[in-house]
Amino acid sequence: MADRGKRTVRDLRRGNRSALLRHLYFEGPLSRQELGRDSGLSAGSISNVVGDLIADGLVEEAGSVDSDGGRPRILLRVAAGYGCVVGVDVGETRVRVELFDLALTELAAADLPLSDSGHDVDHVVRLVLDGLSAVVRDAGISESDVLGVGVGVPGIVEQGDGAGAPGAANGVDLGSGEGIVVHGQTIGWNAVPFGRLLRAGTDLPLYIDNGAKTLGQAEMWFGAGRGAGSAVIALLGSGVGACVVADGKPYRGATSSAGEWGHTTLQVGGRLCRCGARGCLEAYVGAEALLERWGRAPEGQSEEAGLTALLAAADEDPSAAALLAETAEYLGAGIADLINLFNPERIVIGGWAGLMIGPRLLPAVREAAVAYALHHPCAQTSIEMGRLGPDAVTVGAATLPLARLLDSGGAPWNRNPTVREARLEVR
Ligand SMILES: [Zn+2]
Repeated sequence: MADRGKRTVRDLRRGNRSALLRHLYFEGPLSRQELGRDSGLSAGSISNVVGDLIADGLVEEAGSVDSDGGRPRILLRVAAGYGCVVGVDVGETRVRVELFDLALTELAAADLPLSDSGHDVDHVVRLVLDGLSAVVRDAGISESDVLGVGVGVPGIVEQGDGAGAPGAANGVDLGSGEGIVVHGQTIGWNAVPFGRLLRAGTDLPLYIDNGAKTLGQAEMWFGAGRGAGSAVIALLGSGVGACVVADGKPYRGATSSAGEWGHTTLQVGGRLCRCGARGCLEAYVGAEALLERWGRAPEGQSEEAGLTALLAAADEDPSAAALLAETAEYLGAGIADLINLFNPERIVIGGWAGLMIGPRLLPAVREAAVAYALHHPCAQTSIEMGRLGPDAVTVGAATLPLARLLDSGGAPWNRNPTVREARLEVR
């Protein structure tokens, strides 16, 4: 019983630290009075918890504001310089690694093109580790300043049941990453033990998730999804993915594959998809498929250049304009499926290809969604463009370790898992 009592006090303390830290992170700078009003905690509790967070270096003062007739109120915010986080995007043509401070201001970045061997696993692991060393070196920091590394990958990410699984160590995932397995059918990754392979080359806490889900988290935290409890963030790149957010959290399903919207069937017996099936949505509206359907993209250039050429051609050439109109209808029909299945309040279109075609196609996409979806849920849903730009996958990946830091109440984040565990225990 005594043991249980001790744990409860410690959990309560961590819960209060986490709640105040999260609130300051997303709403700060705020005064102690505002924190008290928003959290419902007593002035004494606020004073204690904030004092601890300042002593730990996680929270700092950010000037003051005059209060009506009283003493000026000191404003508080999360200390951006407490540590760094890294976000990695294992993309379609390159691996991008970015180092951020806790305010997610970029401190260094490295772009490492994939070689002709494409997504060869050992090659990708090498690029991620090389990029990690490069950004730490370029920012002039020590590796011990990095609180964790988040990686967004194309494919289904199974978190496994190892120490890195959510729920490990009193609800705080310490980032062992060991059990994480990736099923990337469209890039030839069949149950790749990506966590273990990366772990062999770094001691830093590792968090891995599907790229569409990391993009979704970035848009939910800082972009067009902010403030929505239920939303779908659609990622249009060479392929197509989605992050379904229910009750403020990504919906994962039994083994984390939920949201594979690109491989829902648009046309029975239709075009061959990269996944091997026929008629998937991705086989019509993904950039690779769209350029194949057009058939006139300039040879030997990137898909970005091809899509730019298609959009320019549509101003002159009726067949290119018709292809885009048809694509808008396919995309709208796919979005109607999302509306009917999930009843989201918001659908956000992101990803580099989505951001390129969206501004032109959005009115027609909305029209098609209205035509194909049930009227009542459709009337409750807004369809909007993403706000974070094409590099949002790295920002989203960096939110993976950051989310763990906030969830843990900022329990001192030491590189050594056993030390971290011991410190979590005493808190
Ligand atoms: Zn498919």
